[in-house]
Amino acid sequence: MELRWDPIMGQWVIVSGKRGKRPLLPEGYCPFCPGSKEVPEKGWMVLNLPNAFPALRSDPSPPDIEGDRLYRSLPSKGVCEVLIYTPRHDASLADLTVENIRAVVDLWTQRFEELGSREYVKYVFIFENKGRIIGVTLDHPHGQLYAFPFIPSVIQKELASSRKYWKRTGNCLFCTIMEKELREAVRIVCENDDFVCFLPFFAHWPYGVHVYPKRHVAALTDLTDKEKTAFASILKTVLRKFENLFNASFPYMMVLHQRPTDGKPYPHYHFHVEFYPPYREKDKIKYFASVESGAGAITFDYAPEMKAEELRNAPAT
Ligand SMILES: [Zn+2]
Ligand SMILES: [Zn+2]
Ligand SMILES: [Zn+2]
Repeated sequence: MELRWDPIMGQWVIVSGKRGKRPLLPEGYCPFCPGSKEVPEKGWMVLNLPNAFPALRSDPSPPDIEGDRLYRSLPSKGVCEVLIYTPRHDASLADLTVENIRAVVDLWTQRFEELGSREYVKYVFIFENKGRIIGVTLDHPHGQLYAFPFIPSVIQKELASSRKYWKRTGNCLFCTIMEKELREAVRIVCENDDFVCFLPFFAHWPYGVHVYPKRHVAALTDLTDKEKTAFASILKTVLRKFENLFNASFPYMMVLHQRPTDGKPYPHYHFHVEFYPPYREKDKIKYFASVESGAGAITFDYAPEMKAEELRNAPAT
């Protein structure tokens, strides 16, 4: 178990030899239901648990294979947690009340703050994989987090482009994009006082919406109480629209993009959420195949304005 450096792509690969062999759970058993091994019977709405099969750990053993100057390796130091959204087994984030989603937002904030304050944690990545099609084996509504000892490469790209824009214009790249989207309005899905959801001009996934706070903040910890509730509320609206679009449980990847926690200033960065739903139409899967995976070129076979309209018109209840 170790981190291996890819000197060609300039990024770390998390190698964990044993994780691939994690056992299948007995049919009908849910480790996240109240009363299961580590989960209290009552007295909680949301909960964080250590991941039973972590890719990163706070006390990693030294790398199995010692690296050299070309093939560098590092201990897999970090934290992997499971974030349980509710005691209810048969719900999804979309089914929860705004109050319950707000408790999820508070848990995200608290975990970001606590783990981010650890010296070895450079980036706290909060996410959810939803649906069997994404490879999720546990149906109980939950998300996860990885606290990385490095800044992941997608974030590095976002930091670099927004820093460049900040230096050149004195403005936040994300604020500028949001203002343009609000002005043009054709790709807006929904909004409230403090947040807006849109399918960007440059969307990568047919339903790959982004959710931005309207105020320039770099992390969940910068949000006010009112903004946190507005965040929970817009998430609920977006998720209900997803569910209502095809009248079916809607799979997605949801990622929170916040500033790094390495102690450096990131005045040019703007917190946001990105969704990557794997469908392009009902029952039609969007694959990230050779062109996307091998060339890093995105193909989008629709007009983003049309896909945004579909979502805008989907009921939010
Ligand atoms: Zn359960
Ligand atoms: Zn901004
Ligand atoms: Zn992003």
